[in-house]
Amino acid sequence: MKDSFKHQGLRQQLVNVLKNKGIKDLAVLKAIGKIPRHLFMDSSFLDHAYQDKAFPIAADQTISQPYTVAFQSELLQIKPGDKILEIGTGSGYQTAVLCELGAKVWSIERQNELFKRTNKFLPKLGYRPKKLIFGDGYIGLKDEAPFDGIIVTAGAPFVPKPLLSQLKVGGRLVIPVGDDIQVMTMYHRKGPKEFEQEEFGEFRFVPLLEDKN
Ligand code: SAH
Repeated sequence: MKDSFKHQGLRQQLVNVLKNKGIKDLAVLKAIGKIPRHLFMDSSFLDHAYQDKAFPIAADQTISQPYTVAFQSELLQIKPGDKILEIGTGSGYQTAVLCELGAKVWSIERQNELFKRTNKFLPKLGYRPKKLIFGDGYIGLKDEAPFDGIIVTAGAPFVPKPLLSQLKVGGRLVIPVGDDIQVMTMYHRKGPKEFEQEEFGEFRFVPLLEDKN
């Protein structure tokens, strides 16, 4: 697993691209500048790893576009030590960004193949989420709730109720909502029954599917 000067240089260029596209959070930019994204992808895609694009990974899934990862991470406003739940572990790249931001991370993946692969891979890079879970993100993770933040990295046809109820008061759920195209939506929990909702434009994700596989 190599991280060459060439990779590091390409990564800095990617950070500049994200800055130009409007990402401002310095901690997020620093995380993206540090994480060897090329190691999260199949070797045939090595040359593409630092373009601002989504790419195929195993099990017909994708590693999210860096801009999308940065955008969602920025919306979460993570502080070191925050408890964060991620739905859709996939390659583990977003998980690594959350770890770099100092979060305690739980992440759920419904594809067993990806779960197993990423569970082995992340510690090799030194990333130690609290736990990766093979399961269905629609139901969240009641045992560890409440969370400071929940991030959904697949397109949700609707907002799963358990995810809202597993937020701390003051916590944020960042979720792309829609069928073919999704609207990035943030729910900010203001009180036990009070949520403020804000929308942030259109994105495209693989679908959030029910049950595990
Ligand atoms: N965060 C990932 C993005 C992967 S794509 C990355 O950076 O690579 C979205 C992932 O969500 C896929 O791996 C898909 O299998 C997973 N997924 C879809 N529906 C799910 C569900 N109900 N629960 C958990 N994971 C789900």
